[in-house]
Amino acid sequence: MTAVAFDYTAPTTLDDALRALDTPGRKVMPLAGGQSLVPLLTGREVRPDVVMDLNGIPGLAGIDIGPDQVRIGAMTRLRALEQHRELAAALPVLVSAAASVAHPHIRRRSTLGGSLCHAAPAAELPAVAVALGADVVLRSARGARSVRAARFTTGAGTTVRAPDEVVTEVVFPRTGGFVYEFSELCTRGSTGYPVAGVCFGLRVDDGLIRAARVVATGCGHVPARLPGAEAELVGRAVAGPHPDLVASVVAEAARGPGPEDQEYRAEVAGVLLLRALTGRASGETR
Ligand SMILES: Cc1cc2nc3c(=O)[nH]c(=O)nc-3n(C[C@H](O)[C@H](O)[C@H](O)COP(=O)(O)OP(=O)(O)OC[C@H]3O[C@@H](n4cnc5c(N)ncnc54)[C@H](O)[C@@H]3O)c2cc1C
Repeated sequence: MTAVAFDYTAPTTLDDALRALDTPGRKVMPLAGGQSLVPLLTGREVRPDVVMDLNGIPGLAGIDIGPDQVRIGAMTRLRALEQHRELAAALPVLVSAAASVAHPHIRRRSTLGGSLCHAAPAAELPAVAVALGADVVLRSARGARSVRAARFTTGAGTTVRAPDEVVTEVVFPRTGGFVYEFSELCTRGSTGYPVAGVCFGLRVDDGLIRAARVVATGCGHVPARLPGAEAELVGRAVAGPHPDLVASVVAEAARGPGPEDQEYRAEVAGVLLLRALTGRASGETR
């Protein structure tokens, strides 16, 4: 199948891009890495009037590591995240999750902003952004706003982004005492989305977990924190025992809209979390 005819524009400044988006009555879709948009176009699942290429706009890509936060431009390729040494030191979980997406050819084009805007339910990076408490920065001709990642995704493939807005950057707080990890299960030979995954962060003191953040991906339509599972962890040793942890993950991650096999996926997420805790406690590397 070929795409329905559309106009193509490639602005070279952000102001021009925002002007192009500010055209009521015309559906303008930004093109970032194109790894999701192009298949949607050729499958005629989206029919924009205009495709607006963001690739010629300077300043939308880059990684800025500060003492309290890391700012990453929306057009930063996943491969660039994966290969950035300082980022690997500052936010290792983001680098390992980026490296888990698809395969290198896809990651060479795919962007951080595109991943968040595409909002695939099993995507790795939206879940990591929620776990880390990141902010998504949006610009339009009306101004700029910042939305917490936990509120950015509203459903499978939907976000709070208005049609005239461009995501310009994502701001990650430095992890402040938490050590994060990402773990996922993919089917054998798969180069696509995982069955399920989990991103978790722990603050451990005197051998006990003092605070925890747990986010599952692939279970529901939206990556969300699992407060019950987090509460299960607090006060326990990393190695456990964690007798109710998997059940707690299932109870929360299998709630709300999700795929047909949501409960199975939630159980996978729970087991991944349990295994990662055991592996961390024994010093196992993954
Ligand atoms: C074979 C294959 C396997 C894949 N496996 C995985 C996987 O395992 N995990 C995973 O997470 N993803 C996976 N993907 C998806 C891939 O990573 C996508 O590239 C990503 O989700 C979208 O990023 P992109 O930069 O290509 O965006 P595009 O495809 O260009 O755009 C995606 C959507 O976001 C919008 N958009 C993009 N950037 C912006 C912006 N800055 N502001 C506003 N709107 C914007 C576009 O209009 C479009 O609606 C896979 C893709 C393929 C083809």
